[in-house]
Amino acid sequence: MSVHSLIGPSSASRRIQCEQSFWAEKEYLEKFGESRSSGEATEGTNAHAVLETWIKEGEEKALIQLHALFHDKAEDHKEYIKVAVDYVEHYRKKGFTFYPEKSFNLSSIHPDCFGTADLPAVSQNKKRILIGDFKYGEGVFVENDYTYQSVEEIDVVGFPYSVQLGKYAIGLLDEFKLWDTVEEIILTVIQPRYNSEDEPIREQKVEVFELKILQAFLKEHYAKVLGAKDPSKLAYKVGSHCQFCNASGYNCPAQQDALNELVNEVMPEKEIMEYESSAHTDQVLEFVAKALQLKPAIDAFYKKVNEVCERLVTDGHGGALGLAWGEGRASNKYPEDIKTPEDLSNALMVSGIIIDPEDVREVSLMAHSNVAKLLDKNGKKVLKDLLVKTPGRRKLVPANSPTALPKDFVLDDFKDIITN
Ligand code: SF4
Repeated sequence: MSVHSLIGPSSASRRIQCEQSFWAEKEYLEKFGESRSSGEATEGTNAHAVLETWIKEGEEKALIQLHALFHDKAEDHKEYIKVAVDYVEHYRKKGFTFYPEKSFNLSSIHPDCFGTADLPAVSQNKKRILIGDFKYGEGVFVENDYTYQSVEEIDVVGFPYSVQLGKYAIGLLDEFKLWDTVEEIILTVIQPRYNSEDEPIREQKVEVFELKILQAFLKEHYAKVLGAKDPSKLAYKVGSHCQFCNASGYNCPAQQDALNELVNEVMPEKEIMEYESSAHTDQVLEFVAKALQLKPAIDAFYKKVNEVCERLVTDGHGGALGLAWGEGRASNKYPEDIKTPEDLSNALMVSGIIIDPEDVREVSLMAHSNVAKLLDKNGKKVLKDLLVKTPGRRKLVPANSPTALPKDFVLDDFKDIITN
């Protein structure tokens, strides 16, 4: 059994929204294994370890571990970890027993489904259960409701809360056999480091029937995705959920297309930000909404491209250069206003060539290379003067391509738009 289930609770959001993510991430993980821990992730793992010790073995042991792991930053981290400790104490006084870092078998959803909950708890009379999830990140606000997922999905899933926490609750009810007796289910996100006005502790109460709907939905969904005869027919869906996807920046064509499209949308139209008419304001708002939604995915994309390249090189898979935004091929066009013999005669006159419109037999659109073949040296020069070069669309190119743009070029563009 690998450490993480590919259909475990922490990936639930993207597995529901993007059917292809399972297969795309599987391919990545088969090649590279689990992602290497970033500094941020290591900090989170250490904070979870201290919390677990605190709850299981008490403050004294936890503080020794805290200092060993965080050194001169220990006091700062203690303050954050204490938020979760106080939460646990509050419910312990009400008679709850906590099972920190408990693994749940979620085979009632799928045989390959399992996961580890941070702070699951059961009340003394077994009528109340609680799932606490300790989120240690400070950059991404973690919703404990469904607002970051689409309205259609609420209809489909019928579960307006965090699916990740809902899955842990299903695991707990299965394991303790409490489905028929439980009366209250509390799902709680504890996120002490997120810098905002929002409460660091966000509780939601869920009904048993809602969890049953979620369980049935997930069972059907995973059976469809994992049992697909032709996985290539499953749909991709790009969105903020791509942020934690291992396929991001590696083997996901949908994300590359969406980013390409977005970049092409923003580059030539940056100036629309300066318009103030209501029509343009709508356009700008629509664009900014889209850019903001994809911003985490864009950041993740770049991060993963770097990680993949590094791993390809260090793991001896050959020298990968990665991808970069590049300038697509420019195309040569003739001005669109040359439609009649008179237009042609006027256009050539600018280059000093006089042609009587009466002598022109036909004006037709031909490929630049075909016209060039019909002309002598002089004619080719005239032809060149008439050409209009349209810049190529932005696209992803190998990082060593001569058309690759500096790495921060695109992100800088987004920064302007998002902060203005
Ligand atoms: S990066 Fe996004 S669109 Fe691509 S597979 Fe992952 S979740 Fe799906």
